[in-house]
Amino acid sequence: MPKYIFVVGGVMSGVGKGVATSSIAKILQSSGFSVTAIKIDPYVNVDAGTMNPTEHGEVFVLDDGMECDQDMGNYERFLDTSLSSANYMTTGSVYLSVINKERAMEYGGKCVEVVPQIPLEVISRIDKAIKANKADIAIIEVGGTVGEYQNILFLEAIRILKLKKPEDVALALVSYVPSLGAGGTELKTKPTQYAARSLESAGLHPDIILARASVPLDQKRKEKLEFMCGLQEGDVISAPNVESIYEVPINFEKDNISERILKKLSLRAKNKDLKDWQDLVSKIRNPKGKVKIGIVGKYFGSGDFILTDSYISVLESIKHASYFWDQKPVIEWLNADEYEKNPESLNELKSYDGIIVPGGFGNRGIEGKIQAIKFCRENNIPFLGLCLGMQLATIEFARNVAGIKNASSAEFEQKNTENIIDVMEEQKALIEEKKYGGTMRLGAYSCKLLRGTKSYEAYGEEMISERHRHRYEFNNKYRKQLEENGLTIAGVNPERDLVEIIEIKDHPFFVASQFHPEFKSRPLKPHPLFREFVNAALKTKKPTFESVGS
Ligand code: GLN
Repeated sequence: MPKYIFVVGGVMSGVGKGVATSSIAKILQSSGFSVTAIKIDPYVNVDAGTMNPTEHGEVFVLDDGMECDQDMGNYERFLDTSLSSANYMTTGSVYLSVINKERAMEYGGKCVEVVPQIPLEVISRIDKAIKANKADIAIIEVGGTVGEYQNILFLEAIRILKLKKPEDVALALVSYVPSLGAGGTELKTKPTQYAARSLESAGLHPDIILARASVPLDQKRKEKLEFMCGLQEGDVISAPNVESIYEVPINFEKDNISERILKKLSLRAKNKDLKDWQDLVSKIRNPKGKVKIGIVGKYFGSGDFILTDSYISVLESIKHASYFWDQKPVIEWLNADEYEKNPESLNELKSYDGIIVPGGFGNRGIEGKIQAIKFCRENNIPFLGLCLGMQLATIEFARNVAGIKNASSAEFEQKNTENIIDVMEEQKALIEEKKYGGTMRLGAYSCKLLRGTKSYEAYGEEMISERHRHRYEFNNKYRKQLEENGLTIAGVNPERDLVEIIEIKDHPFFVASQFHPEFKSRPLKPHPLFREFVNAALKTKKPTFESVGS
């Protein structure tokens, strides 16, 4: 019999419910269970592909091409597993399948009603995901916070499931506990009490409360929450701020979270082994040096926070690779617009050990990014291009090495006759019909690597599989000309003969991929391209005043 742990949020969003869910999943996995994690998003969007990452955060892509919420990336990273579309649903996707079933007469002439059909569809999807993953335990995170209209039907699904299987369902409330007072140490539990009461009005009672606060909760506050919210002793778990998200599972275990949850579900831990995770945390805490990486992006005008969420997998991948080499990553955002306006400012790139141009859409900041790539190529600065970064690196090479002056991409200039990056016929038709949702080249594609290249050396094998999310491609019409001018085509998708990786020889590291390697990096298994990029960054690192002095 599978067990279900639901995670809901209280007071406000953005307090790390995804990391809390991933951490509980990790701890239970390390206790010997087969665990899967599921995300339910309250949006009417059928998937996350049509949501703006500067508002909603990164669009994470799974092997099967599902475009989903960034939390799915956390689940994959913490559990070290690849999930599928069965593990993600939105209000839109749930309604869509209920409506499609109704059109197909699958309800046999019955009136189809929001309750119970929508919650029942949610439950049946959760069960499908459990089956697909052969899971003993599913952790299901419900997006948003309790008390919002938009997730009420998901709470109803929990209520129905708990009614059917009272022994098999546990509910965790992740709630924010603000601190007031001069030193910010006076923790206020009242908002959490209201959140618990909101849950009660939906017919639900929390089994566990994870109290997110800047500091650990003191015993008094824990007792107060236990008493006011009707919890057993020990069921309020402290979730204070930590330096690295990878410390969270270890922190939760300090309050015996796995023991508390397993007891509720009448399960007993088979073993407990968080050792590799503990080793990772001690590596993170005791770096032997620093590596300074710059990410060239377009400026959104709203600060680092939005950029951080839009590129979360890129940031995590840099961190994984840095931890592998016992380094503390220092990551900075560089404004591509600035390089367009003021070419002098390109010189700042010299103070970085490595530069990344990540994925993106639209033509703002493009010329500045191309200038940055040129600077890295000419000044031997390790460079990693991701998706759009690869397309721009190809354009830069075409313009400045192969002499194709008007080289560009169909994404920026439809009438350009020298579209080194172009749109394929099938994509053209989709754009014309305005079929944007779920129609890019999405998900895992195989790629054959050329022996002797940096990519081949990094992966150590010839056939790889990587995830994609883009509409435009390397135009094979220019392949020969670019190769003759020294561009290395290091990886190709054999089925469709699509260029997947380009490299430049005689450079410490200049590698760019059409796919998104960042979706497959894991804390204990850094992605080969990021790992070797950071390695090259360390090798070419110029001694700084600080390192000479110490
Ligand atoms: N805008 C480019 C394309 O659609 C690159 C996309 C990306 O970087 N994810 O092909």
